[in-house]
Amino acid sequence: MTEHYDVLVVGAGPAGLAAAQAAASHGARVGLVDAQARQGGQVWRHDAVHGTPRAASRAINASVGTRVPVTWLARHQVIAAQSQRLCAETPLGAVELSFGRLVIATGARELLLPFPGWTLPGVTGAGGLQALAKQGWPVRGKRVVVAGSGPLLWAAAASLRRHGARVLGIHEQASAAAMRAFALQLWRWPGRVAQALQLRAALHDVAHHCGSFVRRADGDAAVTSVQVTSGGTSMRVDCDLLAVGHGLVPNVALAGMLGCAMDRDGAHPVVQVDELLRTSVANIHAAGESCGIAGLSAARIEGRIAGHMAAGATAAATSLLRQRRHARRFGELLERHFALDPRLYALAEHDTIICRCEDVTLGALDGYTDARTARLATRCGMGACQGRVCGTALAQMGRFPRSDCRLPIFPARLATLADRASPPLPSRDSGDNHP
Ligand SMILES: Cc1cc2nc3c(=O)[nH]c(=O)nc-3n(C[C@H](O)[C@H](O)[C@H](O)COP(=O)(O)OP(=O)(O)OC[C@H]3O[C@@H](n4cnc5c(N)ncnc54)[C@H](O)[C@@H]3O)c2cc1C
Repeated sequence: MTEHYDVLVVGAGPAGLAAAQAAASHGARVGLVDAQARQGGQVWRHDAVHGTPRAASRAINASVGTRVPVTWLARHQVIAAQSQRLCAETPLGAVELSFGRLVIATGARELLLPFPGWTLPGVTGAGGLQALAKQGWPVRGKRVVVAGSGPLLWAAAASLRRHGARVLGIHEQASAAAMRAFALQLWRWPGRVAQALQLRAALHDVAHHCGSFVRRADGDAAVTSVQVTSGGTSMRVDCDLLAVGHGLVPNVALAGMLGCAMDRDGAHPVVQVDELLRTSVANIHAAGESCGIAGLSAARIEGRIAGHMAAGATAAATSLLRQRRHARRFGELLERHFALDPRLYALAEHDTIICRCEDVTLGALDGYTDARTARLATRCGMGACQGRVCGTALAQMGRFPRSDCRLPIFPARLATLADRASPPLPSRDSGDNHP
């Protein structure tokens, strides 16, 4: 059976919630889909101990509260798409969804660059460990090193601390000069200043090192120490956990599968949209971090614009364009000041595992110049993450610039694929970075 919506929104993060609310305000029949059990996306992920932040609760109630005619489709992971139809895997099997207009608000994921020891137990993404802690994974009393790049390190460190972790230090790869220049520009976004001050207060006694990065993690059964390079010197830090993330990468696989054109943001594709967030496909809009990394405010404004547009309310969307331009400029600031140090691309050694799902080392990829051949010969990118981690890292390292996006978008149960009424969809070149 196919469920039809005038406007279907994929992703219930800040962008998707805003899109659903805006579209519903014009009387459209709206479906809001997310793979997660709760709304909120990454930044507003429900915290099992501390609950949902007040701003998040307000946004969630405004979008899917009892008085809003939005159908909330929890634990629906979209795994395939073709023209006006999506296939979602749910705990009860496959569901087919069709739409008049689609808003893609699939957000972003962390960029994880490989280095010796990065696959040891206890080494996670910075946002990854934050998410685990919020979901109840115990970090109390654990000594945590937070490293990588971007404001997410501060947010993750603050969350970990709130859950009782001992944050030993934050190692930001960008230089102190870049950080000062970033801070001097922040006054243009008062909301960001307030957030920065809150984080600074929460982390007032945590050392923040600039121009500093983890070059290896050591330990037998799990990480017990990391080697950190700061300026010209190297030091060992004993720890129980390493939370390391090198920025964010847009999730574009769904848009790619639907034939939406892509722009490039450095090594990675972003969904191409015009000012009113129309993609290159007539009835498909995109909003938030799938269109490029610019943070919470941009995601919320863009969600509203895309939702109004999807409901045919162009005037309401147009009235928000100035706010969008301002919010997007924050993304440009992030890109400029948190540009990655190329030394990070050279940390992995010949025997460092690159594809952790299939145990493929960097050395095993020598001699391959395109992702497809490497995949066929080594199985790199063919495991459960489908290249989302290794393919993204290899693209950032300049090894394999781009590759195809394959069905299913996420690993799916055979029963789900068998449930699908239509024959398997053809694979389509999306520019996503799966090796
Ligand atoms: C791990 C992580 C942690 C972060 N933590 C913070 C933080 O603490 N503070 C901060 O300011 N910013 C944080 N960010 C940045 C954050 O992404 C943005 O500020 C903001 O959440 C972007 O909103 P969005 O709606 O575009 O995307 P998201 O919030 O990422 O929402 C996207 C949603 O789409 C869903 N989705 C994706 N693909 C599918 C699919 N195929 N089928 C169904 N559902 C799908 C996801 O489950 C998710 O709920 C974090 C980012 C990441 C990756």
